[in-house]
Amino acid sequence: MPRKLAAGNWKMNGLRANLTELETLEDRHGDAGVDILICPPATLISACEDTPFDIGGQDCHVAEAGAHTGDISAEMLADAGASYVLTGHSERRTDHGETDTIVAAKSQAAYDAGLIAVICIGETLAQRENGTTLGVIETQLTASVPDTADAENTVIAYEPVWAIGTGKVPTLDQIGEVHAHIRKQLMNRFDDGAEMRILYGGSVKGSNAADIFSVANVDGALVGGASLTADDFSPIITALEAS
Ligand code: PEP
Repeated sequence: MPRKLAAGNWKMNGLRANLTELETLEDRHGDAGVDILICPPATLISACEDTPFDIGGQDCHVAEAGAHTGDISAEMLADAGASYVLTGHSERRTDHGETDTIVAAKSQAAYDAGLIAVICIGETLAQRENGTTLGVIETQLTASVPDTADAENTVIAYEPVWAIGTGKVPTLDQIGEVHAHIRKQLMNRFDDGAEMRILYGGSVKGSNAADIFSVANVDGALVGGASLTADDFSPIITALEAS
């Protein structure tokens, strides 16, 4: 069984004052039986050095260094104390035009810097409604995940775009169908595909986490809004531990 992972994506939220949330989380889950990852804004990564939780960036550049004003390389994230980085989050794909090819290059840059890439994929509402979800997922998996991926350096996050930050959540059957499809693709392509962690993301809350974690091939969650406070994130971690 892959080790379970509760990952929080703070997006463009969080000042140093908000790091007290991590202290509260440490009091409650400092010895959790699951992995806990926090992806704060890059400005806070080095300030998280005392937390027992894993820390991740939210994006990295494909290059190691160079003339790319405003960007951050995977090596810089690692140097600041990160061990993970999100790649291909739908907000990056939409807001910054990131293609599967770019996502694969960013994921490879993460591996090269010794980071674990959390590679995000997911269908839009239009794709869900026109019945192409599984095909879209397959294409994204093939093109966004480098051939060098393995269970140690890669986590897949299935995040239906229409469920992110909307309060809308797929049915458990829909989540199960996509996760089973992802697992099959990973096992066909990678020797250790059965061990690769697959997270569900999209409006996960304390109230729906236990149900989502009961679905086969769901190895944890990538959580946005409900990861910003210890009070909201804690019940999700507790549900994952109990699953
Ligand atoms: C996300 O940002 O990856 C996410 C899943 O957001 P939310 O939990 O707020 O839907």
